[in-house]
Amino acid sequence: MGEASLMDKIVSLAKRRGFVFQSSEIYGGLGSVWDYGPLGVELKKNLKDRWWRSMVRGREDVEGLDAAILMAPEGWVASGHVSGFTDPLVDCKSCKNRFRSDDPSIKGEPGEPDARCPVCGNKGTLTAPRMFNLMFKTFMGPVEDDTSQVYLRPETAQGIYVNYLNVMQSSRQKIPFGIAQVGKAFRNEITPGNFIFRTREFEQMEMQYFVRPGDDEEWFQYWKEQRMNWHAALGIRKERLRFHEHTSDELPHYAKAAFDIEYEFPFGWQEFEGIHNRTDFDLTRHAKHSGKKLEYRDPKTNERFVPYIVETSLGADRLALVVLVDAYREEELEGASRVVLGLDPSIAPTKVGIFPLVNKDGMPEIARKLFSEVRGRMTCFYDDSGSIGRRYRRQDEAGTPFCITVDGQSTEDSTVTVRDRDTLRQERVDIGRVIDYVGERIET
Ligand code: ATP
Repeated sequence: MGEASLMDKIVSLAKRRGFVFQSSEIYGGLGSVWDYGPLGVELKKNLKDRWWRSMVRGREDVEGLDAAILMAPEGWVASGHVSGFTDPLVDCKSCKNRFRSDDPSIKGEPGEPDARCPVCGNKGTLTAPRMFNLMFKTFMGPVEDDTSQVYLRPETAQGIYVNYLNVMQSSRQKIPFGIAQVGKAFRNEITPGNFIFRTREFEQMEMQYFVRPGDDEEWFQYWKEQRMNWHAALGIRKERLRFHEHTSDELPHYAKAAFDIEYEFPFGWQEFEGIHNRTDFDLTRHAKHSGKKLEYRDPKTNERFVPYIVETSLGADRLALVVLVDAYREEELEGASRVVLGLDPSIAPTKVGIFPLVNKDGMPEIARKLFSEVRGRMTCFYDDSGSIGRRYRRQDEAGTPFCITVDGQSTEDSTVTVRDRDTLRQERVDIGRVIDYVGERIET
């Protein structure tokens, strides 16, 4: 399978089966904005739920939060986003295309007479680099002027920092503790692309862990390990996962240390989660700009300090792309080929397919009854059209881990066959035990 075509196959499967559609497709689409269809919304929800269970509900020391997308604009000045969240861009005066100034296809130094536009090929038409802010701006209230300007948040983290005292005091947490949230973020990316890898509207799953200065390096190591283990437990192939350590010139302005967790996509190794030691940068800046004290007082020693923060920041959409790419397989089976999404059962959008072998002899009645019982407990799909082989293949392609078939024997002894997507083994199971049988195998 050609690597270039793997992405095309995934994009086409995603559309055909209702995982992901282009936004506003009937209007020709909106650049790098995507909508999640019936299967995609289940997949993404399962990923977010799994993250939430392990990062919030499963821990005593992490609290959840759902901060608003809109925040006081001063917060973005404090965080450095108003002045620093920028990419250097160049425009071609001839063909009007826009590029990042570090675009490797630009020949020569932009702004100089010998620089060549990578699209139209003209010489000397590229402007000198100009800084372009990636934050989306809008207006709040009836008057559209500078004083009413607000931003769509480009990350969820700042909503956590400005609420850190509220959360700590109301939940009676003590340092070290964390705050987690899942939510939308917006970036006016200039070089978006690769399907849902880099989009202008996306979701982040972020956790900020507040620690005593001096304990930060130990916690940084801890969270690095935790997060890598989490991805491995999701069944992502270990050989396609690695850490990338930021060198001192790659480090963001706020961080003392940063590691990316990278996945080997068909278009190369790329980050999908970042783990950052942000020191006391954020709280110190917010304290200065808001005029509020954001210190922590140790209840035992009465010592006061501004906590250091270790951040884990994962993109839900990028993670969805990781699991789709990682799960996609084409196989030959008894002369026929099949496409399989070998998703971990805990995140599969549909857990069970239910089929009557034929549409007569009492089989549809049993299958329908089973369908109505199972669907209250887990996502399932009823299918009575086409050959049984085709029905299996439709579910394989959607990543459904189990298919239950009601056949002639079912009408006699109340058993059904349960077929496993990966091993293809079929087991006869008592119809009354089906929910438990599947339930045990899809547990997270
Ligand atoms: P990149 O260098 O790829 O733009 P970044 O270093 O700016 O990413 P962070 O600000 O650390 O990314 O964001 C943390 C995570 O949020 C990323 O690892 C990624 O999963 C997700 N993310 C960031 N930008 C986007 C985007 N435009 N589209 C989809 N996900 C994104």
